[in-house]
Amino acid sequence: MKKTLLAAFAFVMIISTLQSQTIKSPGEFLGYELGTQFTFQYKAIEYFKYIAGISPLVQYREYGKTYEGRTLAVCIVSTPENLAKLEEYRKNNLIKAGLMKGEFTGRQIPFIWMAYNVHGNEAVGMETAMKTLYTLVTGAYPGVSDYLKECVVVIDPCQNPDGHDLYVERYRSSMNLAENPDKNAWEHNQGWPPARTNHYMIDLNRDWVWQTQIETQQRVAFYSQFMPQVHSDFHEMGPESTYFFSPAAIPWNNVLTPWQHEFHKLMGKGNAELFDKKFRLYFTRESFDLFYPSYGDTWPSMNGAVGFTYEQGGGGPAGIAFQQESSDTLTLKKRIEGHFTSSMATIKVSYENREKLISEYDKFFEDGNKNPQFRYKSIIISGANDRSNVDELLQLLDRNQIQYCYAGNTGKKFKCFDYYNHKNGEVTIEKGDILISAYQPQSHLVQILFEPENKLNDSLSYDITSWCVPYAYNLKAFAISEKLASDTGKVEKQKTDNKPGDKSIYAYIADFTGFGELKFVAALYKKSIKIRYTLYPVTLEGKSYNRGSIIVARGDNTNFSGDFDKTVTNAANECNINLSETNTGLVESGKDFGSEYSPLLKKRAVAILCGDGTSSLAAGALWYFFERELNYPVTLINSEITKKPVLKNYEILILASGNYSKLKDTIVDFVKKGGKVIAIESAISTFSGIKTTALAKAIEMRMAEEKVAEKKTKSTDTSMLKKFQYENEGRYKLSDKSEGSIYKVKLDDTHPYAFGLGKEWYVMKRSAGYPFLDKGSNIGYILDKEPVTGFAGYKFKNKTENTIVIGSEAIGEGQVIYITDDPYFRNFWISGRVLLGNMVLR
Ligand SMILES: [Zn+2]
Repeated sequence: MKKTLLAAFAFVMIISTLQSQTIKSPGEFLGYELGTQFTFQYKAIEYFKYIAGISPLVQYREYGKTYEGRTLAVCIVSTPENLAKLEEYRKNNLIKAGLMKGEFTGRQIPFIWMAYNVHGNEAVGMETAMKTLYTLVTGAYPGVSDYLKECVVVIDPCQNPDGHDLYVERYRSSMNLAENPDKNAWEHNQGWPPARTNHYMIDLNRDWVWQTQIETQQRVAFYSQFMPQVHSDFHEMGPESTYFFSPAAIPWNNVLTPWQHEFHKLMGKGNAELFDKKFRLYFTRESFDLFYPSYGDTWPSMNGAVGFTYEQGGGGPAGIAFQQESSDTLTLKKRIEGHFTSSMATIKVSYENREKLISEYDKFFEDGNKNPQFRYKSIIISGANDRSNVDELLQLLDRNQIQYCYAGNTGKKFKCFDYYNHKNGEVTIEKGDILISAYQPQSHLVQILFEPENKLNDSLSYDITSWCVPYAYNLKAFAISEKLASDTGKVEKQKTDNKPGDKSIYAYIADFTGFGELKFVAALYKKSIKIRYTLYPVTLEGKSYNRGSIIVARGDNTNFSGDFDKTVTNAANECNINLSETNTGLVESGKDFGSEYSPLLKKRAVAILCGDGTSSLAAGALWYFFERELNYPVTLINSEITKKPVLKNYEILILASGNYSKLKDTIVDFVKKGGKVIAIESAISTFSGIKTTALAKAIEMRMAEEKVAEKKTKSTDTSMLKKFQYENEGRYKLSDKSEGSIYKVKLDDTHPYAFGLGKEWYVMKRSAGYPFLDKGSNIGYILDKEPVTGFAGYKFKNKTENTIVIGSEAIGEGQVIYITDDPYFRNFWISGRVLLGNMVLR
């Protein structure tokens, strides 16, 4: 045994020495020294391929393509002996976790995953990845050959190539000939949108658990084939900051284990040792917490690894050289050295703790399987939910390797927590209900997604404090403390099979239950088929239909040139919705199909304003919604050209969160002439300042009332003085904020925009509400000051009671809709799709 090890060691040494002589460094390969230029992503991929081609220590693997067609790939680095057994080690990891069936062959070694550049403009990441790879294959660092004997290192050089290359393209095209550290230089001030995000301007470091974007979907699918024990995510913060490494700040999510806490400390010490030697400044336990589950540190930690965030001072504005306030120059070379140091510390500390990493990884999953910490042991998803929401949920569970099945105990009653009504109650299990058990490998994630009350050990979080899935997906669901039995049969996503009827069919009807029917409308528009919808509930041939149900009548489509029946049923099958047929337009209750209360729908041209002043995240989420969810054409218009008479070509204008004060007159003119504006979050201020609007009048009235109330209660409250102390400033500011809490919204369910949502809906609340409109529609409003879950400060709560979330008013010939909070937050607030779809299609 010893002999074999020695032989392997000698082999690695020989290979390493040979390679350092023959393998090109990144600088030799690229033609410029690392840190003197930003590299396009394809060149880094070429370098990775080159290294894999020449070194027996490396395997190159592609795992996908970005929206813009760039390659996503990693290099896997270890000894040739380990690489020969890679498949065995990979499977052993999964078998031990209980995520794969099979025979455990006896050896696990830690997988250490190093992921760079998830934020495009934090471009030091990919440059460092090349240096890390080169160092590992040439053994040009103390201890490397030992590390590789006992560990597998996976290097993902660039998780977000589209954002990265947008940054590099802009930087290269604006840079001076000689490096220019002047912070005012063009090269340090890139335009809209920030290249931090991906093609759809979505933040991939908020997307790990939701996996709304293809970059995340493909990365997680690949990651899930290995399930590493360590995951490091390399970022940058502002150019005046030093360096951040673990331990992470509080709050920590309470599913994290004592070992994960301990290893954060060990990793911190390991980094500090190396940084101290280089006299580099750094900080720990501040700013970057471990609460929200969708980051590159938290999500891996909830999947059995220990996850780390590293933050180098620098980022988009820093460029190749940047003069700091202290007059020091922060160079790209210095930033590379920072991330390289922490990369090597990560591998070293993981190597030193390799046995514990494996045993704790095994324990993590074993605890999930046998002894789940979640106070609820069974989650029931009602089978009566809208199918499109259930299918979305199943997809989310699949992508996170969470197991589910049909619930047993049909007809039996259980005590439960009822999410929809947000209180304890009882539930009777029905046939078709879905069971998600806490007893499973991914138990920690089940807890994360379904815990109705997150426990915060500090309210000062970097991000939102609630995300509970039944609210985000608008699902009737119940949490039960008992372990429930499962039923046989595999839960499958719905696959409808509507067949074209004969030519005597008067109309096809789609009962409106959710987003599927809205997709159906968009699909029929594409085929130029005319559609009506019901403003009232309808009963016909013994069947009842909800408000908003879709009628596709033969009589409306006599000029349609194709096969009407086939086109309609095909579209329904594509959207996975069920159609009914009827031979009459005479209803038993409600309004007949030819009534003005069953109006024709009209396809409208939609534009979203973008550019300076607009939140790129908010505009991007909408762009994604139209193109990838609703499949409805949309035009993004740069606000720079909006002053010209371009808006006349559109009927609906969407204002994502942002400041449009420069375009106020143009936008108001658009509404007055008959346009529909949907103003979301801060975009509402475009109208709140116009004295003649119902919104401005409502605000004025509310302010007058508050002044009277304030006069009555004015007194000197000395207990507040402590709160005002300087060191409490950050915390005191929170009293006015909601850190992403969830509120219950009451709906006017007779209003077409609210169709399909029920009488109540839940919103991710981050902005204060507006008072009720006297003249206009109050479509969705909050009556209670307490959120259902998540953190909201006391001042915020007072301001939220009795306010609208969705309202609309007529201005001139047109209409404005106000939505105080993003209804489709970060693309994972699935329930908001119905609201957005209704507003555009009805
Ligand atoms: Zn970042």
